[in-house]
Amino acid sequence: MPVAPDGLIKGSWKLFPGVALGVFSRHNGTMPTLVAESLTKSFPVAGGELVVLREASLAVERGESVAIIGPSGSGKSTLLSILGTLDPPTSGRYELNGVEPFKLGEKELAAFRARHIGFVFQDHHLLPQCSVLENVLVPLLADGAAGRADVERAEQLVKRVGLAERMNHRPAQLSGGERQRAALARAMLREPTLLLADEPTGNLDRTTAAAMTELMLELQREHELILMVVTHSADLAARMGRRYEIDDGRLAAVN
Ligand code: ADP
Ligand code: MG
Repeated sequence: MPVAPDGLIKGSWKLFPGVALGVFSRHNGTMPTLVAESLTKSFPVAGGELVVLREASLAVERGESVAIIGPSGSGKSTLLSILGTLDPPTSGRYELNGVEPFKLGEKELAAFRARHIGFVFQDHHLLPQCSVLENVLVPLLADGAAGRADVERAEQLVKRVGLAERMNHRPAQLSGGERQRAALARAMLREPTLLLADEPTGNLDRTTAAAMTELMLELQREHELILMVVTHSADLAARMGRRYEIDDGRLAAVN
């Protein structure tokens, strides 16, 4: 039986649920990859609410690197967890790759995050009982077992971050810089559009921090991804293409 156009439209949510549910924005091809508009975040506290982020807006294209600096407690990690879709804003609009992730359901959001966003934290968050290679493969285990091609890709990444000789080491057998490189390889496994790093060199000495920074920038250029780094380090911030400062929840571009 031929499918009437009408029926096709009615059934289209099954094929393109995001379109039917209005999750995808009216993407005209000229919108930046990452758009944050007036993001506000507040937390309920005794006797009122604590406003941590105040109308933060920014737009970033693929292939750009951005530093976010600011004093402790100014809202940097809060902003990063919104951009990383880990926590919704109290108000404001966020779009990545033409999708408004906070309009997705829980499962779809988790899948979107896994597919498009990589994270590197100050503390590596590697699994202590697993080897470097296994740790890099962890993001795929959520989808089931890793295949031969996945393992090869993970091996390539481990080599790319300079850990070819440390493939089967456990985190405790690595230096701080090596652990962060392993965490970076793990973040890169699914070729994210957006790589978010929260104080990635905070626990490293200056030389190791500089090497980690250059490696992040190399990967950012090779994969034309967006790199956003929260940092206290003026050296690291100076290496990024653009800089923003947060002060008391207000985000502003700096030179
Ligand atoms: P930064 O990363 O710049 O040091 P954060 O974004 O972690 O700062 O935190 C900014 C402010 O928000 C801090 O005062 C912190 O105590 C507060 N804050 C963060 N998360 C929560 C939460 N879940 N509940 C209440 N307050 C929070
Ligand atoms: Mg922080």
